[in-house]
Amino acid sequence: VIGLVEQRRGGVPFHVHCKICGRPIAADREYCSRKCSDEAMRIQQRSKRISRIYMLIFIILMILLFVWSLSAGRQP
Ligand SMILES: [Zn+2]
Repeated sequence: VIGLVEQRRGGVPFHVHCKICGRPIAADREYCSRKCSDEAMRIQQRSKRISRIYMLIFIILMILLFVWSLSAGRQP
């Protein structure tokens, strides 16, 4: 994100690009419009959900591994 910050010669203040559509916007804003901020929110929620699913899979794998190692250890 920092890499998107540009400075032009001639007194034009810092500006950044909208994270969604890439349009140049004022440096104190993150998105050019309500639509883009809504879109960003949707993407964020989706990625949060996906990382939660990965976390669940990881936990299940750990439990399986634990149960497997317990049952393997019990055998003579
Ligand atoms: Zn935008």
